[in-house]
This record gives sequence, structure tokens and C-alpha cells, in this order.
Amino acid sequence: MANKRYSKTKLEEFRTVIMGKMNSVADEVETIQDGINTGKNPNGAMSQDAIYSVHMADAGTDSHEREKSYLLMTREENYFRNLSVALERIDTGEFGTCTICGELIAEERMLEVPNTNKCVACKNKEKLNPV
Ligand SMILES: [Zn+2]
Repeated sequence: MANKRYSKTKLEEFRTVIMGKMNSVADEVETIQDGINTGKNPNGAMSQDAIYSVHMADAGTDSHEREKSYLLMTREENYFRNLSVALERIDTGEFGTCTICGELIAEERMLEVPNTNKCVACKNKEKLNPV
């Protein structure tokens, strides 16, 4: 059974979209990182008293916010990794082909989950009959 493939032109379109997403994810990770870093440095213009009271009041919130930022960053980094897996598959020509039935995976699904290698039907079957 021959696997179906997206055309070269189509694959290049996917590549452009994915690389765009990678850029914006990289930007977001940078912004989150900046937020975490600046959170560690209280504003130098404040008096010692102000720093002290702000620090005491916000200590709990601060670490909570930072934790949330780390979680978000991990999620973005995972997404980034998924996108690079997708790029590799474009290079090898596997991108967009279901590894189980060999059919093309719908374009919308590829844009939503670029690193997927199973079509919805096979994914659902797998859920019903875990191997
Ligand atoms: Zn399939």
C-alpha cells in the first residue's frame, strides 16, 4: 500500500506556517523569561521600606506567579519541540501521512497538531484498542 503524500508546494506552505509559529513561540518564551528575571529585581527607585513592605505583601503571589510562568514556559518549549519534529518530517517527506493507514491527514489537523503522525480515525481506534 503506497502512502499518500502532500505535494512539495503544499509542504513548503506548511513549513512557512510552522516556522512562523516557532518564531512567535520563541518570542513568547523570551518574554516569559524576562518576566521571571525582572520579578527578581525590585525597582531600585523605591525606598528600603517600600521594598520591604511590597516584598512581604507580594512574596506569596510572586512565587505563585513565577511558578505559573515556569509552567507556561515548559508548555511553550514542548510546543516548540513538537514544531521542530514537524519540520523534520517535512524534510523526510513523512509529514501529513498517517503512519497506520497511509492516508493523508487533514490539513486543519496538521496545522493544529503539526507533529501528529496519525489521522483522527486511527487515533480514535487506538484509543479504543490500546496496543
Ligand atoms: Zn490513519
